[in-house]
Amino acid sequence: MPATGKTAQNGPARVRFAPSPTGELHIGGVRTALFNYLLAKNTGGQFILRLEDTDRNRLVEGSIDSIYDSLRWLGLDWDEGPDIGGPYGPYVQSENVSTGAYAAAAEKLITGEFAYECDCTPERLERVRERQKATKQAPGYDGHCRTRSRDELAESRSAGNDIVVRLKVPRTKTATFEDAVRGRVSIKYQDISDFVILKSDGFPTYHLAHIVDDDAMKITHVLRGEEWLPSVPRHLLIYEGLGIERPVYAHLPVILAEDKSKLSKRHGAVSALEFRDEGFLPDALFNFLALLGWSPGHDKEVMDRDEIASLFTLDRVKEAPAIFDRTKLEWMNGQYIRNLSLDSLTDAALPFLEKGLPAHVARPVDRDRVRPLLAMTQERMKYLTEAPEAIELFFEDSISPAPEEIIQKKMDAASTAAALESSLQILRGFEPFEVEPLEARFRELATQLDLKVGALFGSIRVATTGRRIAPPLFDTLVALGREKTITRMEAAIESLKAVAG
Ligand code: GLU
Repeated sequence: MPATGKTAQNGPARVRFAPSPTGELHIGGVRTALFNYLLAKNTGGQFILRLEDTDRNRLVEGSIDSIYDSLRWLGLDWDEGPDIGGPYGPYVQSENVSTGAYAAAAEKLITGEFAYECDCTPERLERVRERQKATKQAPGYDGHCRTRSRDELAESRSAGNDIVVRLKVPRTKTATFEDAVRGRVSIKYQDISDFVILKSDGFPTYHLAHIVDDDAMKITHVLRGEEWLPSVPRHLLIYEGLGIERPVYAHLPVILAEDKSKLSKRHGAVSALEFRDEGFLPDALFNFLALLGWSPGHDKEVMDRDEIASLFTLDRVKEAPAIFDRTKLEWMNGQYIRNLSLDSLTDAALPFLEKGLPAHVARPVDRDRVRPLLAMTQERMKYLTEAPEAIELFFEDSISPAPEEIIQKKMDAASTAAALESSLQILRGFEPFEVEPLEARFRELATQLDLKVGALFGSIRVATTGRRIAPPLFDTLVALGREKTITRMEAAIESLKAVAG
């Protein structure tokens, strides 16, 4: 078989992401979109979105919106597509059926004797399958209609029979082609039978449709999941039959979970929108996904979009499966959260706060009020979903921690109550009520009371926040304000006294 195709990556690339709207956009699909986008950016080319919806039985309502939302959220903006148009539309395959483009391509293949019409009934195909099973032959179409004349088929059509178009597969041959990721690949035709390219309702199958469209849209590089690699021999036959040059192929490595099984729901979030809803930043996911099957050639992992795009070339795409390391993604998200300006963090966190803060907090959430609170937790946040929990303590009227939580090591209820009493006296009149002076004064108090700083601060922390781990103590007290701090301290002292008896 001819191994035609542009193998060098030079000049602006025209690439496409061509999802089928059959459900939520899975992370594997997003990675494919991303690599296409990056190649377009790297070469100053175009990134095209095309919807492949010819398999009408598999359509899932809402998935087109989910595709748009996922790509937009990640900032993978397309240059041409169904919603914005472009010079080579339609960008939705079902809309291209009525233009006759696919039927014309099928006709050309029939005329060139690369394809033929077939009116075999489902019953006949079933009998063939059973016979193959009984005689332990590989399943597949037996070529029954290959030798029938077009007149015969025209007659069959007039009689109301369903006619499909099948491609002739040379089963004794081997397809050899170059893949930009895998190098030279050889696949035998022996397991491929004459397959359908045009269905009886005039809809093309994927194999024909994507080739007609890629050609019409002047696609230079096809980057897609490696599950399509075994189909390449079929595609080469179609290119040959149509007399057109194929694009550069780059089959991207599969993404596996850490246990090396296929990444699925049981491993956690798998669709882009789930990651969004779990509080990941689009920039972090963008960066993380770029490293799933591609390497920049150095060890630096946190890179912004432009840097990644400037380094992205196909020769750095790896062949081996990419492992989805969730811990690394969490770490990376934390890095991105830390690097946000406080305003950007506030903007990103607001939708999560609207949803997650207790009902008694006024809506819409007061941006100016939460901004300084977020500043305190920014260092420790790994997901935006942690924001409500991290700051809700500032909105509660009372927090009522259990006395045993307030009591620190080597202390009891009475000594803790006494320490908090002394603290309360200071808090009532201390000026200025600011972080550094407060901290200095309370360190002094620990010495005066002969307590470990950690023990004193720990009791105050639990008394005022209800938590052992909270943002830095005096930042917290200042954010709470003197009044709330005092009320909480008073309540804590009461509860300790009740236990002390
Ligand atoms: N519609 C195909 C899919 O969703 C696209 C494959 C390709 O990129 O050619 O997997």
